[in-house]
Amino acid sequence: MTFDYDLFVIGGGSGGVRAARIAASEYGAKVALAEESRMGGTCVIRGCVPKKLMIFASQAGAMAAEARGYGWTTANAGPFDWAMFRQKLDAELTRLEGAYTGGLVAADVEIHKSRARLADAHTVELADGQRFTSKHILIATGGHPQRPGIEGEELGLVSDDLFLMEKVPGRALIIGGGFIACEFATILQGIGAETVLSYRGDAVLRGFDGGMREKATEQLRLIGVDLRLNSSPVRLERQDEATLVEFADGKQESFDAVFFATGRVPNTGGLGLEEIGVGLGERREILVDEWSQTAVPSIFAVGDVTDRVNLTPVAIREGHSFADTIFGAKPRKVDHRLVGAAVYLRPHEVASIGLTEEEAAAKGPHEVWEASFRPMRSLFAGSEIRVIMKFLVDASTRKVTGCHIFGPDAGEMIQLIAIPMGMGATKADFDAAIAVHPTLAEELVTMRKPSRYIGGAHPDKTVGAA
Ligand code: NDP
Repeated sequence: MTFDYDLFVIGGGSGGVRAARIAASEYGAKVALAEESRMGGTCVIRGCVPKKLMIFASQAGAMAAEARGYGWTTANAGPFDWAMFRQKLDAELTRLEGAYTGGLVAADVEIHKSRARLADAHTVELADGQRFTSKHILIATGGHPQRPGIEGEELGLVSDDLFLMEKVPGRALIIGGGFIACEFATILQGIGAETVLSYRGDAVLRGFDGGMREKATEQLRLIGVDLRLNSSPVRLERQDEATLVEFADGKQESFDAVFFATGRVPNTGGLGLEEIGVGLGERREILVDEWSQTAVPSIFAVGDVTDRVNLTPVAIREGHSFADTIFGAKPRKVDHRLVGAAVYLRPHEVASIGLTEEEAAAKGPHEVWEASFRPMRSLFAGSEIRVIMKFLVDASTRKVTGCHIFGPDAGEMIQLIAIPMGMGATKADFDAAIAVHPTLAEELVTMRKPSRYIGGAHPDKTVGAA
């Protein structure tokens, strides 16, 4: 049987674009890609990229205060010009969108600016009714923000809306306590909004190492976010230009903008998946095997739509591995076990890889090596904020099984730590490196004694066990 294409990709985000480009340019496959919105997907257009630029914007204001600590007498950052920033941001996103499209065009990928759905195991149908056949189909449609299901929730905004605001809200409420809630609170507070963060739990960033959660919670308050823990909004109501929010304790407050950062769900609706036998999980995610293959052998899926590890670089790796496996005769699976991540808070980021202290304790005897210090740069400028660096070391194998950093540029550090950890480095391997002085990261190779022992009796009987 002949097909119109070797590969038809639905979704022009990080995972889909990578798979299409590699299949076409490296392996000569005939490839088409359908995207109904802007090329680049969530990460480029309404996620990581604009978010990080807004973190930089919010940081730039705080740097003016730091400059005063270094003797600059006139440094003053405010007020923040949102209109000017927004114009520059739009231009940058347009440039990136062009680069993504250009990469596909250069690889001879045919682009269909349209929504697409599956008609059968080898046929894709576009919104205008055109149909194309393909030997393989890759679904990379990502996810979208979910609202919590409370009365009046349509009055609230979601993460996509942050980048499209007409002006910085005077008073903003963010609901949630995950990556997006914490980053958005940091941004909005930093660019001048009086920011309230309402989270139902007792420390933000559930799933992260307990010590990191505590530090992130403290820091949000330190930068001026009004953080309300064990707090739940139950109802939203329009009030002239503002939104009135009622909380579970019965209190009511008015906000200029309310953002839900209450998680994301896979984009699997209207794709015709179940009709042709592609299996969906409890969260409506596409079920795939270790090769990203669905229950229908010609159909594969990568990225957030599969709800495995919902991070851009993971989607890119899954897309690339799919193309290598299917078109390059280089079978490659993605190992999802050791993936680093960073939450871009300010002034200190939270970055993590491997086991948390809680997970390590549950696995067996571990040593916790921890450094806590005031970094020279902010200390000189008058800040007491401490950096925390933590290693979890398996007491039997001496391997580093987890690393967590709360500090400036923690994301940059954890990226490099991912390399030795992936190679199975022991604590002694880290200690063998000579420090680069004076840096923050030198503390990662100069810790001399464990801070505590967890997870049961240490195999070395001379060491006290917890
Ligand atoms: P998360 O899953 O990280 O957090 C969702 C938050 O919303 C949690 O605090 C959760 O509370 C809370 N929540 C969920 N449902 C409700 C509800 N019904 N009522 C009240 N609160 C609720 O999702 P995000 O939206 O923050 O981010 C989505 C994904 O995007 C992340 O998982 C991450 O993979 C990715 N991302 C990565 C970033 C990065 O790498 N820096 C940045 C931004 C996003 P609880 O903890 O109690 O369940």
